[in-house]
Amino acid sequence: MSSHAILPRSFTKQYPVAARAHGARIWDTQGREYIDLSGSAVVNFIGFGNDTVVQAMAEQASRLPFVHSSQFTSEIAEHFAAEVLDFAGPAFEGGAVFFTCGGSEAVETALKLARQFQVETGHPDRCEIISRQQAYHGSTLGALAVSGNLSRREIYLPMVREFEHIRIPYCYRCEFSCELGCDDCGRKYADDLRHAIEHSAGRAAAFIGEPISGATLGAVAPPPIYWPAIASICKEHGLLLIADEVMTGFGRTGRNFAMDHWNVAPDILVAGKGIGSGYAPLGAVIVSARVVDALRKGSGMLIHGFTYNAHPVSMAAGSAVLAHIREMELVQAADSEHGSIGQAFMQALHLLEEIEAVGDVRGLGLLHAVEFVRDRATREAYPAALKFSGKVAAAALKRGVLTYPMQGSIDGTRGDHILLAPPAVELDRLLEAVHLLGD
Ligand code: PMP
Repeated sequence: MSSHAILPRSFTKQYPVAARAHGARIWDTQGREYIDLSGSAVVNFIGFGNDTVVQAMAEQASRLPFVHSSQFTSEIAEHFAAEVLDFAGPAFEGGAVFFTCGGSEAVETALKLARQFQVETGHPDRCEIISRQQAYHGSTLGALAVSGNLSRREIYLPMVREFEHIRIPYCYRCEFSCELGCDDCGRKYADDLRHAIEHSAGRAAAFIGEPISGATLGAVAPPPIYWPAIASICKEHGLLLIADEVMTGFGRTGRNFAMDHWNVAPDILVAGKGIGSGYAPLGAVIVSARVVDALRKGSGMLIHGFTYNAHPVSMAAGSAVLAHIREMELVQAADSEHGSIGQAFMQALHLLEEIEAVGDVRGLGLLHAVEFVRDRATREAYPAALKFSGKVAAAALKRGVLTYPMQGSIDGTRGDHILLAPPAVELDRLLEAVHLLGD
């Protein structure tokens, strides 16, 4: 079982040893098959075993495996950056991309770019970032500092720097007792940002949030008015809007980027996970022309970089993954209303609502969550110590189904759920896995 040379995530858990993967399935060294309803932590979108992607990576590794960004750019990086800008749409015309090895590095980059933007445009005091309670934006100390989620940050307190975290609109447990989709509560939650800006007394540089809260609360989408209202408050007060689309980007929710559901264009868009679909370590910071221009006209340089940013082999993987997404129309396929996979997947998931312990099934496209409650009428959660979602995931694993369990709050009262975010392939297997979950 577990290999002891790798520092494990949990010293008490026995990890199966993965041997190979294809499509939506993974096999361990014992020959056991797992259907991956988790997308391996919402990474795998196009399916494993894609020969075109593998070939593109091998060719790139053979031709040019590495250059350092202080000395060279590369053809493949320039090519992929142009493709990513095009995929991000007209709002990013004239913008630029900074590639990283994953989501945390990309979030870290976005936070630093936002602060540099404020300095270059004559607002050096604007150095604080406002974010949200329960949010998770990454493991590095800066990205963790903007993550409101207590269970991930508690042992590292105090952070390098503490920022203010506002509430996430969470319709299933709305603090304003509004009905689902109510614009009134969406506006009230957005007003939290206005109050946080007032509180920061002119020191706020940016606001960061996930369009649909992924891991921590579990696929929670806000009411229609929320993101447009947040965008206009940011604009009014000179804050940059950073959308963390590490989980939601590159088609997962049935749009190129989840912000497209609200027709909101952020100033900086952060991507990870699905951009490389697991073939290579890859993240991206997609920067709007306004921000790029400020840096160009200001100091004219980035005081920031990683040795492996824009790694050519990752660029080749990303470019081939994106070509596959476009060719197979996987964004359209993932859409919950009309998509060939998204629609059937969502319908199957909603059948789980009949189970007594299921309080809520929610999400968009191929990013869904099932939240568990002890009492459906009162929405009372199971005690945190029970780790109910972890037990569900362990039972599912015994049936060969991979899910992504999470307790959104440290006291277990919010978001005790499993996240279900499979790749957009092998629909029959996915539906079979959902039925196994329900049994
Ligand atoms: N932002 C979000 C929304 C995430 O879900 C994650 C990872 N779960 C990260 C950032 C960090 O990404 P990574 O683990 O690739 O560093």
